[in-house]
Amino acid sequence: PALFAPERRNSRGWDLAHGPHLARIEEARAAHRTTHVNAAPLIAGPVRAEPGRPRHSPSDPKDLVGWVQDASLRDVGTALAHARPWNIPETRCAEILRQAADLYEVHFGEIFALLAREAGKTLPDAVGELREAVDFLRYYASRIETLDAPARGIFVCISPWNFPLAIFTGQIAAALAAGNAVIAKPAEQTPLIAHLAVRLLHEAGVPPECLQLLPGDGQIGARLTSDPRVTGVAFTGSTETARLIQRAMAGTMAPGTPLIAETGGLNAMIVDSTALPEQAVRDVIASAFQSAGQRCSALRCLYVQEDIAPGFLEMLKGAMAELRVGDPWALSTDLGPLIDDEAHAAIAAYVAAARGQGRVIWEGAAPREGHFQAPVAIRVAGIEAIEREVFGPVLHVATFAGADLDRVIAAINATGYGLTFGLHSRIDDRVQHLADRLCVGNLYVNRNQIGAVVGSQPFGGEGLSGTGPKAGGPHYLPRFTERAAPEALS
Ligand code: GLU
Repeated sequence: PALFAPERRNSRGWDLAHGPHLARIEEARAAHRTTHVNAAPLIAGPVRAEPGRPRHSPSDPKDLVGWVQDASLRDVGTALAHARPWNIPETRCAEILRQAADLYEVHFGEIFALLAREAGKTLPDAVGELREAVDFLRYYASRIETLDAPARGIFVCISPWNFPLAIFTGQIAAALAAGNAVIAKPAEQTPLIAHLAVRLLHEAGVPPECLQLLPGDGQIGARLTSDPRVTGVAFTGSTETARLIQRAMAGTMAPGTPLIAETGGLNAMIVDSTALPEQAVRDVIASAFQSAGQRCSALRCLYVQEDIAPGFLEMLKGAMAELRVGDPWALSTDLGPLIDDEAHAAIAAYVAAARGQGRVIWEGAAPREGHFQAPVAIRVAGIEAIEREVFGPVLHVATFAGADLDRVIAAINATGYGLTFGLHSRIDDRVQHLADRLCVGNLYVNRNQIGAVVGSQPFGGEGLSGTGPKAGGPHYLPRFTERAAPEALS
C-alpha cells in the first residue's frame, strides 16, 4: 500500500487565545456543568446490566457527573452473539467515519465539559484530545482505500482513562475502517465519555451490531479476551495488563490472532551543556507535568549534564513554582487532578518515601479536597534507580558527565521500555549518535516529548512499551485486516 495518505487535513481545533472563540467555548460547556449523564451497555440485543454506579468528578467529590450501569457477563455473551463485521463499500465507510468526526466537533461543549468533569482534563488538554479523536477518524477514513485485505472479524478494543476520547476513538475507528465488528470496553473510570462517543458514532451511521459498548471492570475485559470468537484485540494500558491479555488470548484464540498493544514507558530526556536552557526548561515542564503527568509519553527521568546542572535546576524550580494545581475547569489551572483515589494514594506514598530519604528537590502545593498531587522533582542517581512507571506529576532528575553519555544511553535502553525520548542539544553529531542508539518509538529533539500528531507523528513504542504498529501512522490499519505483511508490523 502507498505510504502516504491521500490529501487530508488535521482538525483546526479551537483557539483558546482568541477571545470570541473562548467565550463561545465557555458558553457551550457551561450548559453541561451540572447535568447528570447516564450510561449503560450499548449492545445489539437485550441488556442485563448491573445496577447503576455513581461517577464523581476526580477534582470534586461533590460533583456527581452521572451514573453508569456496567455490563454483566451475560451482556458480554449477547454482544459476542450479535457482533457483525461492517460490510459496506469503502467510500460509504469513509463517509460515515468523517460524519462522526464532524459530529464530535459539533458536540465540543458537551465533550469539553465531560472531559473536565469525568476525567479531570484542563481545557487545553480537552481541546488537544478532541482534535486527536477527530484526526484519528479522518485519518483512518482517508486510508481505507489503501487496504487490500478483508476484515478479520470481531475486534475487542480496550482503552485507557487518560485519553478516554482520543485513544478510545482511535482504536475503534481503525478496527471499523478495516471492516471489523467492534466490541469496546472503555476504562472503568471513564465510561460516560465512551458512551457519548459511541452514541455519536451510531448517529453518524455505524450500525449497532458493528459497534457495541460494554462498560465495566477487568472481568469484562478478561471475558472478552478469552473468547475464541474474537479475532483481534487492540489494547492501551499497563504492560502488566497487556501480559495478562496475551496469556488469555494464547489459551483460547487461534494462533497468530493479533494483539495491538500500546503500554507503559519510562521515558527519559537528556539536556546537554549546549542546550538553550530557557527552551529546555519549558519543554521539561510540558513533558513532565502537562496532563498532571498522566500520559504514557510523559517525561519521567531527566538527565542534565553536570556542568550546567546547578543553574538549570534553579530555573526548573522557578518554573515549577509557577504551576497551578486545581480545578480543571478554571482557565488558570495547569495541572488537574489524578484520576482516582487509588492513583492518588499510590503516588502520594511514593513521594512521601522519597521525601523521607531526603531526595525531593522541589515540591509544589495542591488543594486538599479532590485527588490533587503537586508537581515534584526527585533526585535519582540514574534511570535504573526508578523501579516502575510512576503515572503522575513526578519528575526524576539525574546529572551526568559528558564522558558518560554512552553509559546513560545504555541505562535508558536497559529499562526494557522504549516509548518516548527527548533530547536538547545543539550538536548535530550528538543528536545523530543518540538517535542511532536509543531503542524508542518516538524521539523528539529540541522540543517537548508529548502530544504526537496523527498522520505526521505516528505514536507507539517498542520492547515493554508496546507491540506496534504505531497509531496514527500508515502501518496501523493493515494490522486490523487479514493481511499482516512484514512492513505492516513496523
Ligand atoms: N499519544 C499521546 C502523546 O503523544 C500519549 C498517549 C498515552 O498516554 O497513552 O502524548
